[in-house]
Amino acid sequence: MKSPNNNKFIDYFSDTNTGISKEMRTIMMNAEVGNEVAAEDPTVNKLLQKVCILLGKEAAIFLPSGTMANVVAYKTHQKTLGEYIILDKYAHSLVAHPSLLSSIVGATPYPINSINKQRGIFSAKDIENIVTAPFKFNTPLVSCISIEQITNFAGGAIWPLEAIENIHKLATCHNIPIHLDGARLFNASAASSIPVKSYAALCDSVYIDFTKSLGCPMGAVLAGNKKFIQRAWYFKFLLGGGMHQVGMLAAACIYALEHNTGRLIEDHNKVALLAKQLSEIEQIEIEPSLYQANILYFSIKKHLNITAQEFCTKLLAHNIRMWAFNNKIRVITHSATRTEDICRTIEVIKSIFAT
Ligand SMILES: *Cc1c(COP(=O)(O)O)cnc(C)c1O
Repeated sequence: MKSPNNNKFIDYFSDTNTGISKEMRTIMMNAEVGNEVAAEDPTVNKLLQKVCILLGKEAAIFLPSGTMANVVAYKTHQKTLGEYIILDKYAHSLVAHPSLLSSIVGATPYPINSINKQRGIFSAKDIENIVTAPFKFNTPLVSCISIEQITNFAGGAIWPLEAIENIHKLATCHNIPIHLDGARLFNASAASSIPVKSYAALCDSVYIDFTKSLGCPMGAVLAGNKKFIQRAWYFKFLLGGGMHQVGMLAAACIYALEHNTGRLIEDHNKVALLAKQLSEIEQIEIEPSLYQANILYFSIKKHLNITAQEFCTKLLAHNIRMWAFNNKIRVITHSATRTEDICRTIEVIKSIFAT
């Protein structure tokens, strides 16, 4: 595998592959630290306070990863083992870790298939039956509804506020909490101009990821009300998520909040540019108007008989990495994607089809 840090390598694989800026490294080096697991790390506490204000939540907890943030949230909402978690069929928790819900959370997934029409955005109507089902002694209760903003494997879509409001109305009537997997919540906010707080207000728990697009080496923050976060501490500890002297990591996250959220729109513009240029290549199928954030998907027209995987292998030979999923090709832009990379990508793709 070629080095992702090689200047000639164009990496659309993930917005975690940003590298870490010099400025961030300097801030990390000088961070004040304490014992995080005893809530004594001043930099972590400062980060949590900042996130609470941004998201309009009472309390928050620092975790090493987004995966753990989702697990902790699911466990905290859960009353009994085996309860349903309603989520899209292509939710990160199901695709990236097919056994996560069954093995670690001990929940029954209730997957909604909304990829074709809505790219991961299910409606209140889609889940009405399960949410309003009368109690039966042989059927699990619903412990939470989990939504992803923006959707990842389901298609890079942004949940409209109204769609979350409708889910919220239904969930509130039936006393079911909503968890927001906000790995890219700041991308949604940058694209829609709706504050992160407005999305968070409709959800009982929210997590944001500092490694996706925000350029940090590690870290996620899960927020909710005081009672929720108190209970979340139990699961953080249990999973080995209690940390020590991680102010250095929290300092990176604070830096990202202050310097890296404002630039996300640049990544979205790169996606828009790439989407438009891809749509002008006759062998490619893409609906450019669908992509308002930093993830796009396209496919190769069927009659050409090139699988998405074969196409990605050809691209890699030209030092360009994309990812094949569901016979589509996923592109993610981030701070290391340069405008000139888009031009080279388009040239290479044209040359692949010309041979
Ligand atoms: C990446 C991602 C996660 C997991 O985050 P990690 O920090 O990699 O553990 C969860 N949900 C979504 C939507 C993601 O894209």
